[in-house]
Amino acid sequence: MLFHVERLIQFLLPSQCHCCERFLEEDQKGFCTDCLSKIRWIEPPICTLCGVPFLSQKVDSHHCGACLTRRRYFTMARALGCYEGPFREAIHRWKYEEKHHLTSFFGEKLVEGFWRYWDSHAFDLLIPVPLHTKRLRERGFNQALLLVKELSRKTQIPYAKRLLRKIKPTTPQVHLSGREREREVKGSFHVSRPQEIQGRSILLIDDVYTTGATVNECAKVLLNAGAERVDVLTLAHAVMSSSFTDQ
Ligand SMILES: [Zn+2]
Ligand SMILES: [Zn+2]
Repeated sequence: MLFHVERLIQFLLPSQCHCCERFLEEDQKGFCTDCLSKIRWIEPPICTLCGVPFLSQKVDSHHCGACLTRRRYFTMARALGCYEGPFREAIHRWKYEEKHHLTSFFGEKLVEGFWRYWDSHAFDLLIPVPLHTKRLRERGFNQALLLVKELSRKTQIPYAKRLLRKIKPTTPQVHLSGREREREVKGSFHVSRPQEIQGRSILLIDDVYTTGATVNECAKVLLNAGAERVDVLTLAHAVMSSSFTDQ
């Protein structure tokens, strides 16, 4: 009920900036000019594997340092924007402040990103990165599943919401390094009906790619269960000083 009231209010009022809530002019969509100017949408050159953008515009796209030293189970990961500033703020508000009207905005963004890198024949199945039941109960929804539903509607690619499950809760990993995160997520995912992913090409969806440990572990589990290929699409890619280099 509350959800519908919120939708109605959003419909009646002029749109607001998803970050600072300033009312938007008619030609503005999503963010006000000020916030929009602080968002870095990801453009080449990028790492051809994990999709991290390179600082220097003078290099060609190639594998980043992290991808050269770590085993990546996914074939390629792509994201729309850098996880910082107003884009990060808006994702936070959507996840933690229950701003449900942002679902359609982020869904549209994700669809835009999808068509940029793939076509609808590229995948047999969309799979959201799952939350552990405990986390799902706390938050009330899985943001990755909301994105998957929007993408499935626009691309007609079917999705599966309970094939990949999170069987071990993990602690928030914000301050962990890549390797620590890899250790933390190891063994925390499980494919419940492997026969349904045999030989399938899968696109894994999440809101944020941080170090890649989570999506990499999911991709590993899916490949081990028989999937042919796993790619990754997220809204944002965390850009840490160590990875945001032109190495
Ligand atoms: Zn704004
Ligand atoms: Zn990379």
